[in-house]
Amino acid sequence: MPFFCTFVLHVPDEGTQIIIAMRKLLLFGLIFVSTFAYSQRNDGNGMLYLDENQRPVYRENIIIPDVRGYKVLKCDFHTHTVFSDGHVWPNVRNQEAWEEGLDALAITDHIEYTPHREDVKVAHNRGYELLKDDAAKNNLILVKGSEITRNTPPGHFNAIFIDDASGFIEERSSEKDRAAVMKSVEQKAFIFWNHPGWQPGIEGSYEWIDLVDDLYRNKALHGIEVINGFAIHLKALDWCIDKGLTVMGSSDIHNLVAHDYDRSKDYVHRSMTLVMASERTPEAIREALDAGRTVAWASKYLAGKEEHLRALFRACVELSPSHYTEVKGNGNTMNYYEIRNNSDLYFELVLKEGNGTRRVVLYPRSAQLISAPAGTTSLTYDVTSTYVRSDRHLSVQLPL
Ligand SMILES: [Zn+2]
Ligand SMILES: [Zn+2]
Repeated sequence: MPFFCTFVLHVPDEGTQIIIAMRKLLLFGLIFVSTFAYSQRNDGNGMLYLDENQRPVYRENIIIPDVRGYKVLKCDFHTHTVFSDGHVWPNVRNQEAWEEGLDALAITDHIEYTPHREDVKVAHNRGYELLKDDAAKNNLILVKGSEITRNTPPGHFNAIFIDDASGFIEERSSEKDRAAVMKSVEQKAFIFWNHPGWQPGIEGSYEWIDLVDDLYRNKALHGIEVINGFAIHLKALDWCIDKGLTVMGSSDIHNLVAHDYDRSKDYVHRSMTLVMASERTPEAIREALDAGRTVAWASKYLAGKEEHLRALFRACVELSPSHYTEVKGNGNTMNYYEIRNNSDLYFELVLKEGNGTRRVVLYPRSAQLISAPAGTTSLTYDVTSTYVRSDRHLSVQLPL
């Protein structure tokens, strides 16, 4: 409202002072009226409405700068509803995703596992159909998907960008495992292996088994869920790197997001995939997934291919030239620098090479000071909140 943002830079004359006074009065009046309007309403017929007790509803913006010209889209391609074993009706997924600032969402109810079938009719496309208009209204990209839910091993696969899940295979015998996945290949789906290793007691549950290799060689496996909810599957990250598969992260949410995640912390978000896409469209998301331009994100932690994590870090974090030099009592000189995190991501840095500040925590949208003796040309840090392999963090060199 530019009307209230007028700055008077000269000494106001009498007329201007009257106008300023009137504006202040009007502003005060508007604040009073709006406060009143949102606290209670009397309809004059014996009803007092306590709107003040309602939770304010708004969409959060998750700030992540563009990376090498790509938009960083926040996507969760693994969620459940009552149409399989989730606890919520599909519209709740839409409300949550909108409020949390997601760009894209997929409902991926289980095909082979529908424990609510006595109460909710089995209909594999129904979640998507119930949601698509509301999602469009909310400017959310809704991607159609299903979770192909085989016994472990091989376990579960998500097929997204499908056309129709009604003919998918519901029978869980292992002889049908391959055919069950191939049903979605016929529809040109993007397929990722979900939460490998989720049942550690079962032999072969976290191994690159023959069936998975067969799918991979026949271009029926395009990614692996490296982050699922509250777990990072480190071995799966190595598979993605070594085999050129797309790194995925998802919530696999069954309950309310607010029930499972401590969203009172500013760095806690549902686990998701950051997709570096040329534009905010389903087609651009699909292109980015096929090209493997993703980073999996679980609140403080990021996992992905080194090249993408490095580009993401560079887009988010900036180091300013030294703003202060301190001469110590012993004659040594220290230079001070400001390092800024311009994103809602979280980075933790531990010094590996050079002489300077040993540990830096970059909270979302914040800055820290670092210092180094004069003459230091660079500091090298491990970003310990990231994984580029199961045993390696992203290493960044900060030139001073
Ligand atoms: Zn699953
Ligand atoms: Zn699931």
